[in-house]
Parts: sequence; structure tokens; C-alpha cells
Amino acid sequence: MSIKENIIDLHHQLDPENVTLVAVSKTKPVADIMEAYEAGHRDFGENKVQELTAKAEELPGDIRWHMIGHLQRNKVKYIAEFVHLVHSVDSLRLLRAINKEGRKADRVVNCLLQVHIAEEDTKYGFDADEISEAIRLLPDLNFVQIQGLMGMATFTDNQDQVRREFAALKKQFDSLKNSELPDNMSMEVLSMGMSGDYEIAIEEGSNMVRIGSAIFGERNKP
Ligand SMILES: *Cc1c(COP(=O)(O)O)cnc(C)c1O
Repeated sequence: MSIKENIIDLHHQLDPENVTLVAVSKTKPVADIMEAYEAGHRDFGENKVQELTAKAEELPGDIRWHMIGHLQRNKVKYIAEFVHLVHSVDSLRLLRAINKEGRKADRVVNCLLQVHIAEEDTKYGFDADEISEAIRLLPDLNFVQIQGLMGMATFTDNQDQVRREFAALKKQFDSLKNSELPDNMSMEVLSMGMSGDYEIAIEEGSNMVRIGSAIFGERNKP
């Protein structure tokens, strides 16, 4: 199937009222993005700052760019002015850096806190204590707006495990949603689910999925 057919299929499959589709275009050429764009798609995700900014320069200005990969603090300045949503805020130091660049650009930057949910070891993501600390800090960070949480399940064929991890994140999301939060933090967006697990993620309460290979085809391994 073509990129266009994949996009149209997903637009039919996912109710846009309930689930936002972020088309993950990393490593793919701008021509592929244009094919999805012409099928009516506007939300695209990249995981490297340099690639994101290069593509944003070349492509139509009404694309909403999502930063989904690990973000280095010294690179925030290149995207603060235009990025639609940073999914991958994985430390307080990064959150402070985004606030600083947001202030310089005089723009509130929308963010999700990336939460560590996978049973496998990974370097990135908040745990419950760090989320509490972020909540304490946020009243001083006027140039960031936390809109929700992002998580990635363990890379495994074990669907029960994947489901368990997504369910745990949804529980955390709901519990935060029902607690007192600073003005610049709300629980609206729950970004979970990729090509291999988005159906499970939606069943477990995701309202934003990040899908790459199921739209654009397999990526070449670097
Ligand atoms: C690459 C990537 C995706 C998309 O992965 P696919 O399996 O190709 O759908 C989603 N989220 C993040 C954070 C990624 O890096």
C-alpha cells in the first residue's frame, strides 16, 4: 500500500475526535511527508533536532511538528520557536532548558513528560518522585505548558506485558488528572502506542499515537 493509502486507512480507523495520529517521518525524505500531507495529514514526528529543523524549513508552514526523541538541552533553542509539542521531556534539567528558550522566544512551549514505564532498562524518563518534583517547580516555569504524559512500552512480543505497561501509565495519568495541578500543567494528552502496539495502547486509553513504519514502511537501520 502507498503512504497515501496508509494515511487514509488510519484516518478511518482512528476516530480523530478521540485519537490524534502523529506520523513519525524520521529518516524518511520530504517527498514521503508531502505524500501524507497531500492526503490531508498535518501532524508529523521526528526524533532528531537537525532533521526536524531541516524538514520544517522545506515543508509547508501549517505542519505541526512533534519532537518525539531524546532532546539535548543545547539543542532546544533550534526548535523552541515553532515546535508544536515536545513528547520527550525526560528530566527536570531539560524542562528548565525548554523554559529558558521559551522565554527567549517569548513563546510557551507545549510539552509532555516522558514517563519510564518499560520493565526493560532505559536511560530516559521520569519516575513518580520526579513528577512530584516537576509539579513543585512548574509555578516558576512560565514558558512551558505540560499537556500530559508520554510513554513507550517494552519492545517485546509479549502483549500482556505491553498492555500492563500501558495500563500503568493510564493509571498514573488519571491519578494526576484528579489531583491538584499548577496552572501550566494539565492532563489532556496521553501519548502512547507505535506501529506495533497502537491498538493495545488505544484500548488502554491512549489519545495520541506515534506511528512510523506502518505508514512510511520500514526504516533502514543506521
Ligand atoms: C520511531 C519512533 C516511533 C515510531 O515507531 P514505529 O514502530 O515505526 O511506528 C514512535 N515513538 C518514538 C519515540 C520513536 O522514536
